[in-house]
Order: sequence, then C-alpha cells, then structure tokens
Amino acid sequence: MSAEAAIKLVTETPPEEIERVKEWINTEEYKEKNFERTALVVNPAHACQPLGAQMVATGFEGALPFVHGSQGCASYFRSTFSRHYREPAAATCDAMTEDGAVFGGQNNLFEGLENAYALYKPKMIPVYTTCMPEVIGDDLTAFIKNAKLQGHLPEEVLTPYANTPSFNGTHIHGYDAMLKSVLETLTEGQSIEGKCTGKLNIIPGFDGNVGNLREYKRICELMGIPYTMLADVSDVFDSGCDGEYKLYPGGTKLEDAAESINGKATISFQKYSSVTTMKWIESEYTGEKAILPMPFGVKKTDELILKLSEMFDKPVPEQLKKERALAVDAMTDAQQYLHGKKFAIAGDPDYLLGLVSFLLEMGARPWHVLCSRSTKKFKKEMDALLESSPFGEGCTCYINKDLWHMRSLLVTDPVDGIIGDTHAKWAARDANIPLFRIGFPIIDRVNLHRTPVIGYNGAISMLTMIANKFLDIKDETCEDQWFEMMR
Ligand code: SF4
Repeated sequence: MSAEAAIKLVTETPPEEIERVKEWINTEEYKEKNFERTALVVNPAHACQPLGAQMVATGFEGALPFVHGSQGCASYFRSTFSRHYREPAAATCDAMTEDGAVFGGQNNLFEGLENAYALYKPKMIPVYTTCMPEVIGDDLTAFIKNAKLQGHLPEEVLTPYANTPSFNGTHIHGYDAMLKSVLETLTEGQSIEGKCTGKLNIIPGFDGNVGNLREYKRICELMGIPYTMLADVSDVFDSGCDGEYKLYPGGTKLEDAAESINGKATISFQKYSSVTTMKWIESEYTGEKAILPMPFGVKKTDELILKLSEMFDKPVPEQLKKERALAVDAMTDAQQYLHGKKFAIAGDPDYLLGLVSFLLEMGARPWHVLCSRSTKKFKKEMDALLESSPFGEGCTCYINKDLWHMRSLLVTDPVDGIIGDTHAKWAARDANIPLFRIGFPIIDRVNLHRTPVIGYNGAISMLTMIANKFLDIKDETCEDQWFEMMR
C-alpha cells in the first residue's frame, strides 16, 4: 500500500496517554468518579427479566418457552443457558422486527404460536416478553385471547404469560412473574376444601446449580417427605447423553404442579426471586408456608432440616447427622486457610445472603458485597447479617452497582479472592486475585453447575475449592525455601 493510501485514524491515542489512564483507573480519585456514575451500567452482575422467565418455562413437563419479541434477545437467553449448562435450551420466538415495532406484534404472535404448536406439540406454551413489545405496549392478554378465538391455537393449550420488561427488573423478577403465572394457570379450579396431598412444594428460586436442586430433593427423600419441586429444571438442563435428542426431557409434572395448591406445606428458598409468587401462594394455597434462606453452610442447613422435621413431624435421619458431622470436620480442617481472608462477592440477593453467612461461619471476611440490582430492604438485611458477626466488622454492602464499580473496589481496597459468576473474571484478573465461580452464568468452566453448593455437602465442596486454591497460589508464588511438602 502506498503512503498516500494509508488509513489515517480519526483518533490516535499516544502510548504514554494509554499508560497514564491505565494507572489512573486504579486510583482513589477514579474510584470516586466511578461511584458518581449514574447514567451508565458497565458489566452488570445480572441478566434480563425474560431469561428468568425462560428458566421457569423450561422447568415444566412438555412446556415450550415462547419469547414474544426480538430474535436477538431470544438467542441471548438460549445461548446463555446452553453455555452455562452445556445442554440444548429449547425455546421459540415470534421474531418481531421493525414492522412489529411500528404496528404491534399481534400478527407475529399469531403466526409464532400456530407454528410452535404445529411443529413441537407442547402441552403448555408459557409466553413472556422482551423490551421491544413492552416499550410499545403490546397487550399480551388480548393477543393470546385473540389467537385462540381466531383459531391460531386450540383453546385447551395452556398459555400462561408474563410481562417481563428488562428495563424494569432482572432475571429474578422475570422468574417470579412467570412462576406466578404458570401456577395460577395450572391450579385454576384445583383447590379442594379439606384435601391435602401430604406433599411439600419446593420453590428453589432462580438457581443455575442443578446440583442444588437435586440436593433439596435428596434431603426430602432421606427424611421421607413427599415433595413436588416447582419449575424443576434439573433433568431438563442436565439430561444424560444416550444418543437420542429429547425435546422435553423432564420438568415438574403438570398434574403435580396443579395439585400443589392442596399441598401440606410450601417452602421458597429465595425470598427475593419469589416475592409476588409467595404473596399469591400465601392467599391461595393450603398448608403451611415458609420462606427460608438458601441453606449455605452448616447453620442455615440446620435451620432447613429442623424446619422440615417440625413441619412433617419427622426425626432427623442418621445419614444427615453424619453428613453434618463430616461438614463440621471439614470446616475445622480448612478453617486455618480461610480464617481472616478477605473476600469480594457479587451476585443475586439470596445467593449473597447465603454466601456471606457461610464465610462468616468460616471466620472469613466478606469485605465487599455487591448486588447489581436490589432494594434498601435487602441492604438492611445484609447489613444486619454482617453486624451479627465480629468477622463482618468493616465489611460493606453495595446495591445497584456493577462489576466496574467492583473493579475500583478491588484495586483500591484489595481482598484475597472474589466469589461470583463468570462476569467477574475481568475484575479478578485486573486485581490479580482468584475468582471462585459460584452463581449464574458460569460459561468458562465445566460442570460446576452439577456440584451442589448448598447443604452440608455443598459447604464441603465450597471450602475445599477455596482453601485448595489459596494453597495452590502459595505453592506457585512462594520462594524456594518456603516451598513445603506439607501445607
Ligand atoms: S435488555 Fe431487553 S432488549 Fe436487551 S436482550 Fe434483554 S430483553 Fe432483549
């Protein structure tokens, strides 16, 4: 290429300026400016509302999740689930484009529902929205009614639906809205006075760890408690590989979900992702209702087991007593490697409460706790938890902040490690600390979604992962004279 034809960049940044800014973004001065930021979000630790709705829609037998909105959004939800679980994430979309944005998406919905039913024969089509139809005000209630009236979909096909505008909430709010709608639809006319199924309804909340879901079920089985897990994605997002693709590999049986209204008890393990669902269940369902913290660590797992024992009048089985003793033993063995270590944590409110409780139990310090979308109520609850332990002293909870804020915290007030999902890897790299991957999504490591982090076994898994990583770092970085056989 001749010198005359060389491309001239519109903006050229001298190398020394790049170096100056690199240094500057690690300063207190920059941190203060970063925390004044209001109109821009950088690398948030949350996903879209409809993605949460899709998790619920996936968790019922024969259900085909249906996105009313843009194809690009639907691809994002599917690819995020596929990358996290490394499984197919079946869902369909009515692919609204410019004309839909101008004239409304009713025709897209008609055609989409007709095709989805003809091709995939689902038992239920849960419908939820992306931002575009929400901005233009598409009326889902009327559209779905019209689709059935005009013969695009048989009347008997179940079509729960939820409005899930992502500009007004996150995946946990979408989860909540869709779950309430599915349960309202399935339980309609099913409530029978005096009838009791004797079962426990379990609401796991938005939890990307199928190992956790299986752990809840295993605990119930050990205690002899019959249960129905609502929106159970464990066999959908972790189905075996036997050479045959199954479009509907699992999920809560619709009959069981319909009967859940006559259950003996209902427990939600995620207060913040089941606010409206539990409010509705409180007024409509029979039996006892409880909202328990996620059972991270020994103390919270004890609370769960004692509650189950009391609710169902069952003794605590020997197996669980043994597992508790093993967890306490493992905690004692690993305590010296975690005690006093400072952590940053980012994630969903219920996960954060559980993880902080576990760290305090281990004598570790949850130094920076960050929730990228939450309420003052959550902050108050987290502050009270931190104040309940001497290891919480000096620790701070930040709400409505993102992982770029977290980066500023890590470089100006360093910690030993960060706990969070894959999005936290840039902040961890810049701060030169390990990232312990717990949360959603985890798309750069394999199989972590299969290892439970709740219950006694989950506590052992977490502390093993964390303590051994610190020991690895010691071995990799120490001088020769400190490179020991025994740690
Ligand atoms: S924020 Fe809205 S437009 Fe963007 S991917 Fe999520 S649903 Fe789609």
